[in-house]
Amino acid sequence: MADASAPPTPSVSLVMEPAVPGADEDAAGSLGSAAVLVDGAGLSASLRAGCAHSVAWYSHLLAARLLGALQDPALSLRGALRLAIAEVAAAHGPDCRLEDGSPSATVVAVRWGAERLEHLVLADSSLLLDHADGRVERRTDPRVDEVVAAHRTVAAVEARRNAPGGFWVARHEPAAAEEARVGSVPLTGLRAVHLVSDGVTRAVDLLGLHREEGLAWALREQPRALLAAIREGERALPPERRPRKVHDDATALTVRWD
Ligand SMILES: [Zn+2]
Repeated sequence: MADASAPPTPSVSLVMEPAVPGADEDAAGSLGSAAVLVDGAGLSASLRAGCAHSVAWYSHLLAARLLGALQDPALSLRGALRLAIAEVAAAHGPDCRLEDGSPSATVVAVRWGAERLEHLVLADSSLLLDHADGRVERRTDPRVDEVVAAHRTVAAVEARRNAPGGFWVARHEPAAAEEARVGSVPLTGLRAVHLVSDGVTRAVDLLGLHREEGLAWALREQPRALLAAIREGERALPPERRPRKVHDDATALTVRWD
C-alpha cells in the first residue's frame, strides 16, 4: 500500500555541454530527494596560486559531498553546504595554501519532501521554479554581477570575493554557506524545477533567445536543442558583444513532477 505521506516521485534529467570537450568544470547530480549543480569558477591560475587542485576537482568533489550531506534530514540546506565546504577544504591536504587562492564555485541545491521544496543558491547559477500555471520564477544571487559591474579592475573585484559587502562563492570557508540565498515553495502547482549554470541562462541574459518562460519550456521539452541553439548563438555574436569566454560550460538538471 502506498504511504500517503511519501513524497511524489519525480523524474530527473541532466544535460551537459562543456565549453571544451572533455573538460567540464560544471558538476551536477541527484540522489534521494535532493539535486545539486556546482559551477566551478574559471579563474586564471594566478588567482589559484596556493593550490594545484583543478577547478573540476573542486566542483565535482563539492557536488558529491553536498549530495551526501543533503541526505541527512537533520541538516538544513545551509548546514549541508557548510559541512560539504569543510570536507572539501580538508580534502585539499596540508600542501595547499588555501588563503593564497584556490578553486571556487557557484552552487544550486534543492531538496523535496512530501509537501515542499527547499532551495539554495550561492553566486550566479540559477534555479527556475516552473509552475503548472505557466509562471516561471528565477532564483539567483546577483551579488557577483553587481560587484563586477561596479568595479573595473580584477584586484578590486577580488578584494570583494567572500568579504562582507562583496559577493560570496563556495571556496574553503564554511561560513560562506550562511551567505547562500535560501527559501522554500509548496510542491503543489510546481511542475518542474531547473538547476542551471550561467552557461544556460546566457540564452536569456546574453543571447536573447528566450525569456524565462521560454527557457523553462525548452528545458522540459528539448534540452539538447536548447544547448545547440546556445552554441550557435554564441558563434553568431559580433566580436564587440562577445564575452570573455565565447563558450561556457552549460549544464541543466531538471526535476519534474508532471
Ligand atoms: Zn588544493
